[in-house]
Amino acid sequence: MPNTSVFATNFLYLNFLQSLERAGFKGEMSPDKATRLSLATDNSVYQIIPQGAVFPTNEADLLALFELAGKAEFTGIQFAPRGGGTGTNGQSLNSGLIVDCSRYMCDILELNVNAGYVRVQPGIIRDQLNDALRPHGVFFAPSLSTSNRATVGGMASTDACGQGSRIYGRTSNHVKGMKIVLADGEQVACKPMTSAELDTAIAKGDRSGLLYKQISQLVAQKASLIEQVFPKLNRFMTGYNLAHVQADDSFNMAALVCGSEGTLAMVSELTLQLTPIPKYKQLLALRYASFDAALRDASRLVELNPDAIETIDDTIIQLAKDDVIWHRVGEFLGAEQADDVKAVNLVEFSSMQVEQLSSKVDSVCADLDAAQTSSAIGYFRTDKSADMEALWDLRKKGVGLLGNVKGKRRPIPFVEDTAVPPENLADYIVEFRALLDDLGIRYGMFGHVDAGCLHVRPALNMRDPNDTKLMRHISDSVSQLVRKYGGVMWGEHGKGFRSEYTPDVIGLELYEDMRQIKAWFDPHNQLNPGKICTPLCSGADCHSEATSELELVKVDDPRTRGAMDSQIPESVIEHWEPIVSCNGNGACFNYQVESEMCPSYKATKDRVHSPKGRATLLREWLRQDQTGHVDKELEDQTYAALNTCLACKACTTQCPIKVDIPTYRSRFLASYFSNRRRPLKDYVIAGVEEFGIWAGKLSGLVNPIMQTSLVKQVSKQLMGMQNLPALHAYSLSKLTAINGVEGYQPDYLHSLPDVDKQRHLLIVQDAFTSCFDLPTMQGILKTLVAMGFVPVVMPLGVSGKARHVKGFEKSFIKCATAQAEKLKSACDTGISLVAIDPSIGLTYRDEYTQVVDKMPEIFLLHEWLAIAMEGVICPDLSGKAATSVSLFAHCSEKAMLPNTNQLWQTVFAKFGIVIQTPAVGCCGMAGTFGHELANQNVSQALFDMSWKQPVAAAEVVLATGYSCRTQTKLQATKGPLANSSEEGALHPLVYLQRLLVMHNESVV
Ligand SMILES: Cc1cc2nc3c(=O)[nH]c(=O)nc-3n(C[C@H](O)[C@H](O)[C@H](O)COP(=O)(O)OP(=O)(O)OC[C@H]3O[C@@H](n4cnc5c(N)ncnc54)[C@H](O)[C@@H]3O)c2cc1C
Ligand code: SF4
Ligand code: SF4
Repeated sequence: MPNTSVFATNFLYLNFLQSLERAGFKGEMSPDKATRLSLATDNSVYQIIPQGAVFPTNEADLLALFELAGKAEFTGIQFAPRGGGTGTNGQSLNSGLIVDCSRYMCDILELNVNAGYVRVQPGIIRDQLNDALRPHGVFFAPSLSTSNRATVGGMASTDACGQGSRIYGRTSNHVKGMKIVLADGEQVACKPMTSAELDTAIAKGDRSGLLYKQISQLVAQKASLIEQVFPKLNRFMTGYNLAHVQADDSFNMAALVCGSEGTLAMVSELTLQLTPIPKYKQLLALRYASFDAALRDASRLVELNPDAIETIDDTIIQLAKDDVIWHRVGEFLGAEQADDVKAVNLVEFSSMQVEQLSSKVDSVCADLDAAQTSSAIGYFRTDKSADMEALWDLRKKGVGLLGNVKGKRRPIPFVEDTAVPPENLADYIVEFRALLDDLGIRYGMFGHVDAGCLHVRPALNMRDPNDTKLMRHISDSVSQLVRKYGGVMWGEHGKGFRSEYTPDVIGLELYEDMRQIKAWFDPHNQLNPGKICTPLCSGADCHSEATSELELVKVDDPRTRGAMDSQIPESVIEHWEPIVSCNGNGACFNYQVESEMCPSYKATKDRVHSPKGRATLLREWLRQDQTGHVDKELEDQTYAALNTCLACKACTTQCPIKVDIPTYRSRFLASYFSNRRRPLKDYVIAGVEEFGIWAGKLSGLVNPIMQTSLVKQVSKQLMGMQNLPALHAYSLSKLTAINGVEGYQPDYLHSLPDVDKQRHLLIVQDAFTSCFDLPTMQGILKTLVAMGFVPVVMPLGVSGKARHVKGFEKSFIKCATAQAEKLKSACDTGISLVAIDPSIGLTYRDEYTQVVDKMPEIFLLHEWLAIAMEGVICPDLSGKAATSVSLFAHCSEKAMLPNTNQLWQTVFAKFGIVIQTPAVGCCGMAGTFGHELANQNVSQALFDMSWKQPVAAAEVVLATGYSCRTQTKLQATKGPLANSSEEGALHPLVYLQRLLVMHNESVV
């Protein structure tokens, strides 16, 4: 089997990076293999490994970088600017140096609401910007599905747009000005200029003046050709948009740079127009019996002038049913009857006046109710922002959901954003579908019907050379088809590897003009070479060495992920399926601190430490392993990247592909340590449950020893562990001695009548709660008794969770098999099994099912209580409860069971107590993660990021996870939380127990 070496180093780049340090560049530089790999892909099918990456901190860094690049000895260096890396067509991929603005250049530089603008650095994420603008009643209007990870610099450079583009237009319509840095380090301002201002700027005769002159002359000379060739379609042209450079008396070079995909200059700053946020919105979700009906109805709905009409087909609806999103949208789409729904149109209306909005939507609904003009078979109307957000999230998830179809053929982007005049859309789609149907290719469809832009991703197996040929065939056929209907291939996502179709659309003459523009801006073809167009070379240049580089990338460029993956045997791929299927859509780069998705990425802002980074590294490691040439350096870097994973499981549920890094990390570690010595701490962690059980019996002896400074020092130095919790003197009898609690007697339990069995619950203990937090376990049991239930405590078993985390594969399987047998036999009693610690309970549900046949159902406490408490009358404890009680569920619990917070609220509501559930991410402890010295910074950063503030604000803090309670207690001893309760956080049932005691005392 061939091995393709992917990390050939070009020494010119190493020299450049060394010189860069001396040139005053203050940002980071990463020529390491892991970083190179993590930036080698976007959401496209291509994979191109760069020589390294730089992470500038500000404009001065960009100027230093490109000043150096302009020196004669470095004109061979190539750059690809990069933001969120969410391009669908390889836009930010290059074999040179990646200039990534997303890590540090993310600031708002100036906000002037009165003058209606905001000045920002290019790396700020679109939604992050709007979070900051929201309190001022304004927003940056262009939208896109990747709005929680795509940067404004990337949006400007692809001229992004999406939902609402019919009324708000594209990004370029909202860019008031830009500062750009050319490949030779010159800085140029791009902003609207009157002809007088333009003349003055040209008269300066500097590099900027020359560019203004060249461009203004070109658009003047070619005005009539431009007018004739560029149709008045909003989604016609991205990049070098000659039609928009001169508008009335205003010359604006920003129109040229917007959409130029980093091929003309590096954008160092943007001045963006602010738009008032519409005060009132309403959304209709219209259901149809066919996709064609939805498309044809959309052209009628457009006449009602909504903000947006977006359509979703039944493929997406079916896939959504297996995703966490269904929990939020299912009922809006007809719930059980959703099988009959073959398409949905989401139609949004907005207004500054509530009456105006309501009467408009009333009339639309009256028409729907009368079933007069619309072919919709039903609809849902809402003005609730949570409902609207959920439905828009479903639409935004479309691409991701499609990526999760089963089989070797996966939906891939290359014809995913074609746009035709909206009136032609339905007919165009009929032909498009026929093309794919005739080839027997599966696809899903959704998109912006109001703008004539539909997202279609044909499913192909990029590991199969026949399918890569099909990709070229479909691409060429669709290119012809869109032209037949007056549209373009790149209606939304830019050109990237599809740039080759540009001359077909605008003709050779204007295409050569574009090449001339490229040559004026970037004569040495250093900026994102091969995209959009090549520079027009003249005279001696044409014979220089550089001409060999003057080639456009092609749709069927062989440098694809699939080509690399094809070196891995299919049988191996089957075993690592989700890792190989990660399609780089970047949903795991979500910046929102309150979302569960990837805490380690949030804390580091290093893409290597994200699910995508880890999946990419694992994929390459797998390829190397299978081809017999494992690069030890990369293998070590893969190990390091996996070591920072907190096993929170967000990527198991919230990644559309469900890459499930913890599972595959475990597999990797088992292999990695098959021929290496493990660190001592791995053994300690793997045995933590047994240690808790046995040492707990001797806690009187063990605790004082553990607390000596010598032992603390030794555990730090030798094991890299710190802040280890004290043990409690655990014994089963300390639990069964509680009044109303029973010991585990299977025969007796079998014999119970069914009605009694429903009041009983089998407590699946875990070593963390029982041995390290015994009073909590006792409190939980007392509360259950007080509620009228009969807790039956099973003997304490070992779950093996820590073994799984550390990759002790065989030992985990052995442990899981033994524990599963006990759980299965307990389940045979007909009594519900209820786990106390959420992360252990979820291990039984997830990791166990991968190695054990037919695991019994294991409930988490809140799940069981929410059902069992139906009909139970509870005392009103509202008068006893604190005014502000906040519950913080474990992050794995929220990731895997999205209704966790609601269920806990239901449980407390039974006692008349309203609890808050602050939106937080991971607390940073995650089992033993936060106790490992090496993880200190990440652990602290995570707590500070989202927990610190709401924990400090709450009078009573409730936490469901043992780790979360440990972390909160640890934090309570330092920093701003130092004055808060030493207890940190309580288990929710322990808090209820305290209230019940107070209640009973007051009743007495
Ligand atoms: C699931 C999914 C859904 C999508 N939905 C939409 C959608 O609804 N609408 C839409 O328009 N797009 C969509 N896209 C495409 C993509 O998100 C957009 O093109 C987005 O604008 C890219 O932003 P980014 O920050 O990720 O940029 P990147 O992908 O990093 O870069 C995009 C281009 O911009 C250039 N660039 C980045 N920063 C700079 C800079 N500072 N200076 C100069 N050039 C720069 C890069 O070189 C590259 O050519 C989607 C993609 C995915 C994966
Ligand atoms: S790990 Fe999941 S969310 Fe992240 S890029 Fe891959 S598929 Fe997308
Ligand atoms: S388990 Fe959590 S920390 Fe680990 S990769 Fe997945 S999302 Fe990130």
